[in-house]
Parts: sequence; C-alpha cells; structure tokens
Amino acid sequence: MKKVVVEKKILERNDKAADKIRDIFKEKGIFSLNFMSSPGAGKTTVVEKIIKYLSGKYRISFIDGDLDTERDAQRIKNLGIDVVQINTSGACHLDADMVSKALKKISLKCDLLIVENVGNLVCPATFDVGCDKNVVILSTPEGDDKVKKYPVMFNVADCILINKIDLVEFLDFDLNKVLKEIKDVNPKARVIEISAKQGDGIDEFVDWIENGIKRVV
Ligand code: MG
Ligand code: ZN
Repeated sequence: MKKVVVEKKILERNDKAADKIRDIFKEKGIFSLNFMSSPGAGKTTVVEKIIKYLSGKYRISFIDGDLDTERDAQRIKNLGIDVVQINTSGACHLDADMVSKALKKISLKCDLLIVENVGNLVCPATFDVGCDKNVVILSTPEGDDKVKKYPVMFNVADCILINKIDLVEFLDFDLNKVLKEIKDVNPKARVIEISAKQGDGIDEFVDWIENGIKRVV
C-alpha cells in the first residue's frame, strides 16, 4: 500500500513538470514527438530517416535518452542537428525533469523537437515528458505478441510504426493479429507499416509529422 502511494506522488509530480514543458512548446510554436520502443526496434534509424526528409524544410532539435552511451546522439549530430544527450545512469525511462533540464541546453528555435526515450516498453509509457505526440515503434523481429503484453505503451501511442516490415515474410509474425490487437487496445492510433532501412512507409509517416508541425505554427 505504501509503495503505491509513493509511486502516485512521483507520477503526479512528473505530470506537473510535463505540463510546464507543454507550455514552453506551445509558447514557442514547437511540435514535439516522444519516440518509444523496446531496444533495437529502430528508433534512431527512423529518426535519421525522417530528418533526411524534413531538415531542408524545418528546424529540428533532438534530445536523446540513453542509459550510458552517446552512440545514438552522435548519429543524429552527424546530420547537423542540434542534439542534447541525457544519460539516465541506469534509469530505464526519461522523466519530465530530465527533459526540462535538457531543454535549457538545446535550441528552442525549432519547428520540430524529437525526444528519443530509453528503449523499454514499460515505464516510459507512464512518465509523460510533455511532448505533443507519442510515437511507438514495434519491429517485426520482436514478435507479434507485444501489443497485448504491453497494452499501456500501445494505448498511449498517437502513432504506431510497425518497423522492419520488409522482414515479415521471413518471420513468424502475424501482421493481421497485430493490427487487430492494436484496434482493441487503441482504436484511435494511426498505424503505419514501415521499413526504416529500405524506406517503405517513411513518406506516409513524414506526412503525419508535417500535419502536426503545421497545426502548431
Ligand atoms: Mg536508439
Ligand atoms: Zn523506468
């Protein structure tokens, strides 16, 4: 019982900090995305791809959450994007306080701000980081059982990317079952099948992002 109360307090505090972040984004006219998935689903590769499409048209900033390394941050920096790294030193999710601190170090003269959360399908779902939209990536090699196993994550998603779709023919991955389970858990989510590596579906995802950017400016 005591433990539950403590967790509730932590989440309430986090929600307040997330609201403050939302106010900053609103004031600056920034559209923001929080990318979540398990490790290896392709968050950084998807971000690299969309930056290639969008960076000629829009100013983009990137906040990378990772346990220990700067490997993903460096990949995005190589594209000429303003990047701030948050190393959580073991924590398995970003919280709103961490993102607030990162915002003090990053250019807010941007149209799109991307947050890459720590690879984890559990607690990032309950820690609001103040972004406009949540993007959740499920990759086909992870298996077709994940939606119902991690319903909270799929429920908070505004857009669900089914990545590595080019591999589906080689795997025991029942795409129809996954699509049906997404409908059960979160009928409002936009679902896009993509291959970040081959480029399939990226233009559709980029359109979805551009609609968001146009809505906030
Ligand atoms: Mg990554
Ligand atoms: Zn965590």
